[in-house]
Amino acid sequence: MEKYLSQLNEAQLAPTLQIDGPMIVIAGAGSGKTRVLTFRIAYMMSKGIDPFNILALTFTNKAAREMKERIASIVGSSEAKNLWMGTFHSVFAKILRIEADRLGYPSNFTIYDTQDSDRLIRDIIKEMNLDKDIYKYKQVRSRISSYKNSLITVRAYFQNPELIEADTMARRPKMGDIYKAYVERCFKAGAMDFDDLLLKTNELLTRFPEVLAKYQNRFKYILVDEYQDTNHSQYLIVRALSDKFQNICVVGDDAQSIYAFRGANINNILNFQKDYLDVKVFRLEQNYRSTKNIVNAANSVIDKNQTKLDKVVWTANDDGGKIIVHRSLTDADEGRYVASTIFDTKMNHQLPNSDFAILYRTNAQSRSIEDALRKRDIPYRIYGGLSFYQRKEIKDVLSYLRLIINPKDEEALKRVINFPPRGIGQTTVDKLMVAANGYNRSIFEVMKNIDKTNVKVNSGTKTKLLNFVTLIESFQVMNQTADVFELAEYVTKTSGLIRELNKDGTPEGVTRMENIEELLNGMKDFVEGQKEIVDATGSLAEFLEDVALSTDMDNDKDDGNKVALMTIHLAKGLEFPYVYIVGLEEDLFPSAMSMNTRSELEEERRLFYVALTRAEKQAYLTYALSRYRWGKLVDSEPSRFIEEIDEEYLEIETPIEERRINPMLSADIFGDVEPNKVRFKPAKQPKFDKGKTKKSPEKYQAPTPKNLKPVAKSSANAGSPNLFDNKIAVGNMVKHNRFGTGEIIKIEGTGPDTKAEIKFQVGVKKLLLRFAKLEVL
Ligand code: ATP
Ligand code: MG
Repeated sequence: MEKYLSQLNEAQLAPTLQIDGPMIVIAGAGSGKTRVLTFRIAYMMSKGIDPFNILALTFTNKAAREMKERIASIVGSSEAKNLWMGTFHSVFAKILRIEADRLGYPSNFTIYDTQDSDRLIRDIIKEMNLDKDIYKYKQVRSRISSYKNSLITVRAYFQNPELIEADTMARRPKMGDIYKAYVERCFKAGAMDFDDLLLKTNELLTRFPEVLAKYQNRFKYILVDEYQDTNHSQYLIVRALSDKFQNICVVGDDAQSIYAFRGANINNILNFQKDYLDVKVFRLEQNYRSTKNIVNAANSVIDKNQTKLDKVVWTANDDGGKIIVHRSLTDADEGRYVASTIFDTKMNHQLPNSDFAILYRTNAQSRSIEDALRKRDIPYRIYGGLSFYQRKEIKDVLSYLRLIINPKDEEALKRVINFPPRGIGQTTVDKLMVAANGYNRSIFEVMKNIDKTNVKVNSGTKTKLLNFVTLIESFQVMNQTADVFELAEYVTKTSGLIRELNKDGTPEGVTRMENIEELLNGMKDFVEGQKEIVDATGSLAEFLEDVALSTDMDNDKDDGNKVALMTIHLAKGLEFPYVYIVGLEEDLFPSAMSMNTRSELEEERRLFYVALTRAEKQAYLTYALSRYRWGKLVDSEPSRFIEEIDEEYLEIETPIEERRINPMLSADIFGDVEPNKVRFKPAKQPKFDKGKTKKSPEKYQAPTPKNLKPVAKSSANAGSPNLFDNKIAVGNMVKHNRFGTGEIIKIEGTGPDTKAEIKFQVGVKKLLLRFAKLEVL
């Protein structure tokens, strides 16, 4: 047997070696589901299965990339590049490009991100003179999204009295009209939104049997990770494609189904055995990720759910530390606690920042944590906020590029037609939009043929419009010969974007310029990277597709050595040695919005289970007695989820600032004090303390002097942005994943702006250390 298979236990080996037929691996967190998928693909390739015939669908593109790398390292072959692997959206966007004309779309269709969709929906609501407080664009967008994910087309909508009635009851009788207008406008703009990528794929596979047959034959083997979170649209695609050969392998954990709010359907995993004949079911029970305390605690919580498949999860790992529960007075205190314990753990054990993750229920919670981390000089990265590509200045550049590929793209056009300002006012744009709707043409086409249209503008404006058309057309000509980087550099200069930002002169303006520089660097990287890939063209279209489908998680640029901050939803599938779950308060987590039904509450509990099982060595659960929410200080109670954990796995701490033995010792004066490890009867008794004598005041222990030691100010710098700071020095050798080995020849700037000039074989590169992933040799 192949040597690498010895890295699997017996239970993992069975599904790995089972290549043919339908099969499902249902197993708890950290039991090696993703590992099985990876090894299984490697094994299939080693048995001679052509990677072109394998399709693997993952939760993020990053996960797919990592899997590919792993597979290549196991089978030692560059063939892994030929695997079809990625998220549903990225894989099917590629297929849609190939087949677009059948659906009446151009193959260079634009992918609208949520920002584009929001802007379009806002415009439609305005044009229809609807009340924007009733028709909130985000709600409208999510409603449209749920129709699409349930495969309810506009026509199906209008044929369904129940849907119409539901929207009317929700005081939105015009919902169907907005949906219709939205779909038509996207189509006219040659644009698909994220949900379209799945909806249109379904349309393609149902309407064109020959297309279905083509892809069924192509993807003889299909694998899906995180199957519990597939929605109906994704489910149908997988079913259709696997219908002929039935070589379908899905892995998942019903206890980690956390995307119901986005249409994920837990029944997909529960009913899998009914969907195919002779399904082989595999179970994995041994968790390799976490300590006994973490595994047992997580089991004890998820046990409280009624709807679940019975599963055993155990681990042979050490007991590890108990899960630390920490109460703070306020959210600011909570932030300080998190920052100071990270700081101490890091120092005591000499750990990189990237060993730590802070997980929260809602994005808004990051602020107080960020404040505290910044004060401590602990570098961090927020995942899932506004992604790099959604920043205004970046989207402006991208909009010019999108217009080059698809001049019909209305959202792109509206963004840049008068940015930088070129004297084309909103009134003119409104006239163009009306005309475009009237002629059923794109705005760009109307502009180009302005003389032949009935649009009334003065001759000065006409010239400006035609100049804009000429500008875009000149970019199109250049696109035929230049690479993405050259083109973008030219576009940013010629369009006047750079001049506009330079004029600004504010620190924000400088940051925006730097971001554009960073975008250009990314493009250079892309161009270089594409050279390695056999069938890649390095084209602008390809670059834009990568960008449109990159989730924030995929944006590797920032990874570096930083503490990770993200919502629990984003943390699915990931693991970190130290995990903080913050804001464990009733109404926050579980969320106030999900307390109405048992199934909603059970989804919150699964979310908590996902959070806790991300931790390898140590988990911290924190909550605050009061917190700023929506600008108001509100009192809060600890989350029921803490109470639900078997007490034997917990260590309950109380922060020093609450004891007030000596006001001089308050955390505010010394900045931070190591939290004491005393058991303390809290001012407001948490629910899980009730009736448990174990936590009575008799157990109160005096703090040891060590616990009161303030942290010396000078050591605060130790958490500087780069772990290797002292090694990043002129003359040292470093390795970059793309440029190879090089010598540092110059360093400029300080802190996050530190740049290094490095002499690589391919030439001298100037890299921002904040972004560059360098390995010091
Ligand atoms: P999740 O449910 O969170 O997605 P999972 O079931 O996909 O988890 P993996 O991420 O594949 O689990 O594995 C968890 C960790 O355990 C990984 O670090 C993996 O490398 C390790 N692991 C899995 N199986 C083994 C094994 N047989 N020997 C050693 N390490 C293993
Ligand atoms: Mg996994």
